[in-house]
Amino acid sequence: MTVTQASRIHDRRWVTQCALSRICGGCGQSLGRPIAFVGTPDEIGRNAFHAPPLHVACAESLLALPGADPDWQVVTTAGFEFVRPAKEDEDRRPTFRPNSLL
Ligand SMILES: [Zn+2]
Repeated sequence: MTVTQASRIHDRRWVTQCALSRICGGCGQSLGRPIAFVGTPDEIGRNAFHAPPLHVACAESLLALPGADPDWQVVTTAGFEFVRPAKEDEDRRPTFRPNSLL
């Protein structure tokens, strides 16, 4: 993954497109299984991720990039739910909830 590709994981429109089209947030190719998510220990603890789904290899290359969050860890899952924020939510970002962690 390039730094340019990595910067898109914070772009809400791109994140939504990845979720709906089931494409990798890094390389833009379709996702197989397992699906990888990168998140902080806090996101992992809540099972609510903000970065789009990724191929395992793309997730690993994201973590190796300069500027990657040193707290990020990779989790893998066979599936996920895409949860849009409710009107009253303070955090308006959609989240991903892996539903069968591997
Ligand atoms: Zn990929």
